[in-house]
Amino acid sequence: MSQIAQNLINLKQKVPDHIKIVAVSKTKPVSDIMEAYNAGHRIFGENRVQELLDKKDRMPADIEWHMIGHLQSNKVKFIVPFISMIHSIDSFKLLRAVDSEAQKTGRTIDCLLQFHIADEETKSGFSREEVEEMLRSNDFRKLERVNICGVMGMATFTGDMDKVRLEFRSLAGIFRELRKSYFSHSDDFREISMGMSGDYNVAIEEGTTMIRIGSIIFGERKH
Ligand SMILES: *Cc1c(COP(=O)(O)O)cnc(C)c1O
Repeated sequence: MSQIAQNLINLKQKVPDHIKIVAVSKTKPVSDIMEAYNAGHRIFGENRVQELLDKKDRMPADIEWHMIGHLQSNKVKFIVPFISMIHSIDSFKLLRAVDSEAQKTGRTIDCLLQFHIADEETKSGFSREEVEEMLRSNDFRKLERVNICGVMGMATFTGDMDKVRLEFRSLAGIFRELRKSYFSHSDDFREISMGMSGDYNVAIEEGTTMIRIGSIIFGERKH
């Protein structure tokens, strides 16, 4: 069995069945992704549009591709025809761009609202106030082709797991409050995308529903 297949099996043994694993294949070649595919995995995450498009064309059609990285509005049109979920909605402008491209294709796109829960300024995402203002606006209500499925966040890059835990806990709290106040009518608002290779155990303890795992499956990235 290949190392990647073995890594996946080991990981799946540690993760409860109801939690989805997004295999983050950024920077890795198609041959590596095919090893995970042949081991039965179908959900893959990429963070750059061009790389995603290149890989998608060379991979089987039954893969669920998830966009997990910062997305520019002008690139939305390239992924809307096939993307399964966009985790990284960080502005209303972007959400509106997804909606308008989705109209053209007749698809409805599953989206997560990305929150800024870390200390680092380099990480993007909404604040809670920004999201509430958006959710209350008339412009938001006019959107027809985006399906808001939950929230996403990245913790601070630190070995301090107590800090990471508090950040995940705040995201889970935001999720519950949004669900109660704005999405009580929706069965689809149910995902909390948090946890990566270094912190997925903490994320599981804090209620994640989707973990995004790269290095543990595919090995360390060189860049
Ligand atoms: C790269 C990346 C991951 C996976 O990182 P690993 O530490 O390799 O598991 C998860 N989420 C996002 C948004 C990423 O960019």
